[in-house]
This record gives sequence, C-alpha cells and structure tokens, in this order.
Amino acid sequence: MENSILFTRKNLENTICVACGKRFGSHTRERSTKFSGKELMKCMFRIQASYMLDMKKVSENEKADS
Ligand SMILES: [Zn+2]
Repeated sequence: MENSILFTRKNLENTICVACGKRFGSHTRERSTKFSGKELMKCMFRIQASYMLDMKKVSENEKADS
C-alpha cells in the first residue's frame, strides 16, 4: 500500500501498542514467549479501525463547516 507508514524493525519493536499497551515486539501468544504476528495483527486491526473512525469524524466536521 502506498499510504502505509514505514517503520524500521527496531522502531516498530519498541513502539508501544495503543491497543493493548505492550511493545509491538512483546506480542506473544498466551503461554508462549514466541513473537506472534497474529496477536500483532489483531492490535493493528483495532488501531486501524479507530484511526479510520477518527478520519471519518474529521471529514464530517469539514463538511459541516463549509
Ligand atoms: Zn497490542
């Protein structure tokens, strides 16, 4: 996707996930210490969904102003 934000792997691992409050690098399955892309994707989906909602609100406000 051309609009996706590019992170370095190190930056990404140390970024706090706003969905669950853990670092992205600490996303693991229950009872496992292995990084889980699936757990991360769940959070990414939640973050993206709230981001999309915010964008929708912004564009609605812009329409109301004009
Ligand atoms: Zn998370």
